[in-house]
Amino acid sequence: MRISEDRYDRDRQRLELALRFLTHEARTQTIRVWTGLSDDRIRKLYRSYLGRAACYVPRHRGKSPHQAAYFTRSLRIQQETAVLASFFALGRLVPAEPSAAAGSALPDIARGHSLCTAFETYTIMIPTAVISFEYAVFLAGCLARGDQLRLGRCCDCAGMIVVERFPIREKRCQHCAGEQRG
Ligand SMILES: [Zn+2]
Repeated sequence: MRISEDRYDRDRQRLELALRFLTHEARTQTIRVWTGLSDDRIRKLYRSYLGRAACYVPRHRGKSPHQAAYFTRSLRIQQETAVLASFFALGRLVPAEPSAAAGSALPDIARGHSLCTAFETYTIMIPTAVISFEYAVFLAGCLARGDQLRLGRCCDCAGMIVVERFPIREKRCQHCAGEQRG
């Protein structure tokens, strides 16, 4: 009995995570990677649980985000990225030593729930948040791999910031950079 109970528990956690991802408008491909569920089960889940609410929870098609430059393209996004990355760090989603292996080991059920919690906290803190859940998932992967972006510290106040892998000069958070200019 024990074995089947464990299996039932795992399956339930998988489905709960898939539902949480679905309410954040994650793509099928993203849900498959993080939950291990088949596309068919994800579609059925979407129809049976969110069917009636489906008009409020749109499904997105096409490719998931893949441009790390998105996170540095405006001051506003840089600021929001720093907030989101701080919640990722609190949720133990950012490894001490980012690597390709850490990046591919990132998606699992427990970390998927941490990721949702981090994203939900971020949207509560910034009600006008612009970074979508898909971009948040992509950011978590970037920070785990560390090949393009890394979690760094402002050289003045040690506040958390997201920086390119090899920054040309020392980086300051927007607050300290503003003080220097002023
Ligand atoms: Zn600073």
